[in-house]
Amino acid sequence: MKLDMAWFLKCIRSFIKCMFVYALAWTGSLRRAERHIRHAGGVVTLTFHRVLDDASYGATNSLPGIIIRERTFQQLVRYVVKNYEPVAFGQVSPGDPSRRLRMAFTFDDGWRDSFTTAFPIIAACKVPITLFICPGVLGKTTPFWPEQAMALLRTARPQRDKDCFSENIESLKRNSDDRERYLAELKKHTPKAATTSPVDMTLSWDEIVKMHEAGICFGSHTDTHQILTSIPTSVARTEMSHSKAILEQVLGTSCVTFAYPNGNSSPFSLRTAKELGFTRAVTTERGIWTSSCDPLTIPRMNVCESGVVGVTGRFWPPMFKYTVLWKAWRAYRTTTLNRRSKTIAHIKGPSSDHMSPVDTRDSLSN
Ligand SMILES: [Zn+2]
Repeated sequence: MKLDMAWFLKCIRSFIKCMFVYALAWTGSLRRAERHIRHAGGVVTLTFHRVLDDASYGATNSLPGIIIRERTFQQLVRYVVKNYEPVAFGQVSPGDPSRRLRMAFTFDDGWRDSFTTAFPIIAACKVPITLFICPGVLGKTTPFWPEQAMALLRTARPQRDKDCFSENIESLKRNSDDRERYLAELKKHTPKAATTSPVDMTLSWDEIVKMHEAGICFGSHTDTHQILTSIPTSVARTEMSHSKAILEQVLGTSCVTFAYPNGNSSPFSLRTAKELGFTRAVTTERGIWTSSCDPLTIPRMNVCESGVVGVTGRFWPPMFKYTVLWKAWRAYRTTTLNRRSKTIAHIKGPSSDHMSPVDTRDSLSN
């Protein structure tokens, strides 16, 4: 009964969201957002993590926010190819207004399904993509703690829907001490729980080399996916430099793109990225990549199943536009307004002394 009520509320929320998106489409708001982005010379950078077939979709312990179904992804890629201009993240530069909206595809973490499921679709449609991978956790089953936590929670409370646990896991991302305690407690209560799933595997070097030979680009996502803002700076530097060195050694090309794990960056990690020779780095902040962005904090738009399907559960273009264009445009406007306020404060008074070197540079670049 509890599950039925949760399912019912989920359906109601989904229906209201679809009505809102329908209203945005009907009033031309989605079309206007697209036009504004093109006129600003912006690039919309998409973040994907996992593309799963139906069997894997049910078996995975990954959070719903990082998954898109294979059939949805296929429709999405075809839609982008038909209506926009897919661009290579490492080669495109924002700036001049474009006739067709430019979109860059990026994948984080280096999951095996990037090769088995996403790659054939990408290759068939000739869409350039960049994968950000962690050399230290390649070829492993369930290498990241959120999947392990999800496996434990599903064993401890089998009657509850997987979506219910997303909030628990999101809150654990903020504090590593709490996380260790919570996971240890869960393991004590569910000692027989399987904390690995063959579905949740990372890429092997063989698969990476095959994709690289087919023209796929690779960037660093640190060595073992450490959150750079919650570890000592010496360790953070090693995480960044080691992953870059290994990638360059195996692939024989320079690695100049970087993705901050969980999107968390700091003035130190920005400075280190620059010193190590990374020329472009991405966060998980929403927004549009324009010529006024710091190239080491490029915003991206996360794409998952619930962000691109309609009430029927199939790919719905207005929902896709709402998730990646409308939200990106709104975030861009908010950031631009904040920068203007900071610039005014900087000119007006001493409160600007509190700004970090990064903030100052951003303000002055406008
Ligand atoms: Zn990641």
